[in-house]
Amino acid sequence: MNRYQLCGRVLLLGGLTVQTAFGQTGTVNARMDKTAESLEKKVVAWRRDLHQHPELGNREFQTAAKIAAHLQSLGMEVKTGVGKTGVVGLLKGGKPGPVVALRADMDGLPVTERVDLPFKSDARTEYNGQQTGVMHACGHDTHVAMLMGAAEVLASVRNDLRGTVKFIFQPAEEGAPAGEEGGAYLMIKEGVLENPKVDAIFGLHINSQTEVGTIKYRPGATMAAVDEYAIKIKGKQTHGAAPWSGVDPIVTAAQVVMGLQTIVSRNLTLTDNAAVVTVGALHSGIRQNIIPEDANMIGTIRTFSPEAQQLVHRRINEIATNIAESAGAKADVKINVMYPVTYNDPKLTDQMAPTLEALAGKNNVKLTPAQTGAEDFSFFQQKVPGFFYFLGGMTKGKKVEEAAPHHTPDFQIDESCFVLGMKSLCHLTVDYMELANKGVAVKELTASGK
Ligand SMILES: [Zn+2]
Ligand SMILES: [Zn+2]
Repeated sequence: MNRYQLCGRVLLLGGLTVQTAFGQTGTVNARMDKTAESLEKKVVAWRRDLHQHPELGNREFQTAAKIAAHLQSLGMEVKTGVGKTGVVGLLKGGKPGPVVALRADMDGLPVTERVDLPFKSDARTEYNGQQTGVMHACGHDTHVAMLMGAAEVLASVRNDLRGTVKFIFQPAEEGAPAGEEGGAYLMIKEGVLENPKVDAIFGLHINSQTEVGTIKYRPGATMAAVDEYAIKIKGKQTHGAAPWSGVDPIVTAAQVVMGLQTIVSRNLTLTDNAAVVTVGALHSGIRQNIIPEDANMIGTIRTFSPEAQQLVHRRINEIATNIAESAGAKADVKINVMYPVTYNDPKLTDQMAPTLEALAGKNNVKLTPAQTGAEDFSFFQQKVPGFFYFLGGMTKGKKVEEAAPHHTPDFQIDESCFVLGMKSLCHLTVDYMELANKGVAVKELTASGK
């Protein structure tokens, strides 16, 4: 039995203490917990079905149909085809209050599953011209199943809800296919945060290398902004035996690669935030005795603040352009801005962390270092206060080194984490509504990672 069951709950709100009576939020949370526990088998079955039938970004047709049917069966107002295949359900509570959005992403990845499971995916497709398996190798199947469960739980207490819940099932978190728009960005563009206007948004990500029962989060910059770049070095082709009669793009590219290393090591304020500049591919030449005309490189940039992002962009341009010029070559630099920083509104995070602590136990809710992976939940957080956290999905006692990371063929999730995941979404929703009812909930961005 935890402290909350014994005596209700105390929220510390930046000096302001709010006693939540056991008779109000407490009983709603307790009723929701029972329902969540009773739904466990159903949620596991949904997840296994989704796992066995994964779909790539912007192609989540069957997934969306299953979600829409479920939300409709709960008597919700349901919109489909939002941002291509997105599904949005609206649950109006019995009492007036804020609009809380809960988000789950739906897409699988071009990865061939290697785990031996009865519900292993045999799906195959062509991706970027290659034949590949399709797999829920990031656990988005678990996100969908848990949010479908949370929808059923919250619908069961709808008369007691002090506000509205918007369930956002989002396509293409991992990126839309080439030439297509998609993901959170497109859903927002199509108005998902309006009508009714969302006051705050919550989302979780399963983690294959964090033990079941543990929740991790970080206030402020949590996951990196990601941008990609391409640099083309144009030299002058010549015979490999007479380099003096040409301009060697390979030697120039090598100098650029080394120059790029100095951005993080010499230019960034490393005590503020980490950053990464990676060269992911470098192609040039065809034969041992030809100095080719050009060299091409591509890479990824990860930063945690707009200042760092701007600095890295500027330095990539300066380094590539000036090194090329010093060699008599020319550099063409293109930078494609992709996902912003996943930025947990600090005040909202402060307000909601006690909810997770009351639910999972204080020792099981931990601060996590910033992660250099990216997440397009960040687009929602640019518009409304948002809180994104990580749910442990690794079997207790397993060694982290033995648990396969996300995006790999051996990726696996322990389903015993689903009940905690469902409860966390439901408690955040109800507790946020309670705070709004008391007039203290964060409804506008208090800072942003823009
Ligand atoms: Zn992923
Ligand atoms: Zn993911």
